[in-house]
Amino acid sequence: MLRELIDKFYLDQQKNKEQTRFYISDAGKCSRTVFFKFKNAPREKLDARILRIFDHGEYLHRNIFNILYRLRIGVTTEVPIPAQEIVSGRADAIVCIDNENYVLDIKSMNSMIFRNLTAPKEENVYQLQLYLHYFNIKKGILFYIDKDRQNIKEFIIDYDPDLCQRLLNDFKELKEKIDSDIVPQTLLDYPDNWQCSYCPFRVICDMASREEISWLEFKKKIQEQSGKSQ
Ligand code: SF4
Repeated sequence: MLRELIDKFYLDQQKNKEQTRFYISDAGKCSRTVFFKFKNAPREKLDARILRIFDHGEYLHRNIFNILYRLRIGVTTEVPIPAQEIVSGRADAIVCIDNENYVLDIKSMNSMIFRNLTAPKEENVYQLQLYLHYFNIKKGILFYIDKDRQNIKEFIIDYDPDLCQRLLNDFKELKEKIDSDIVPQTLLDYPDNWQCSYCPFRVICDMASREEISWLEFKKKIQEQSGKSQ
């Protein structure tokens, strides 16, 4: 009874809007996934339990923000990057410790993943690097929280301008494909890459070849296929 209402509340939050700019979290992601997001291609919906897990992660973020304010080191929280054409995003916080500013990015995870974490995750580093780039700050902190046991690990990251340039060039190249309706090739190690296991577009990706293809032709194929299965 109540459970169904709560599940529905979460499921109703899922919006499949066409994306018009890159999110910072798209950095380093499979180009084909990001392409499909821009085109609002059919995707597998997340179930209510996963959405509740995300919500719990948000709660942990707010808890840390509260502590930053009380420690008086949170210069500002949930800070949008300066407006520009290609990418949008919002850093968790900018903090000042011993007169030095840091961009803070908070990630929460279960105990098993946390236990095995000996270095920052690559995709998290990419995201943080772009925040450093757009805020013109030289250092960042990747702050990992174990959701189950409340343990914490942190990694200090130095700004890497070459890496940021590469990430931004990748975005520009992908934008050209999006504008000219060319679906990018799959990841080189598709379908074994970990991203393929969690990919909401896995079903339609499996329908295409691994190489670049025309979006307009592929869209027709998806529509024909979904017509058959109804
Ligand atoms: S299944 Fe893998 S290669 Fe295909 S879109 Fe998803 S992440 Fe990319």
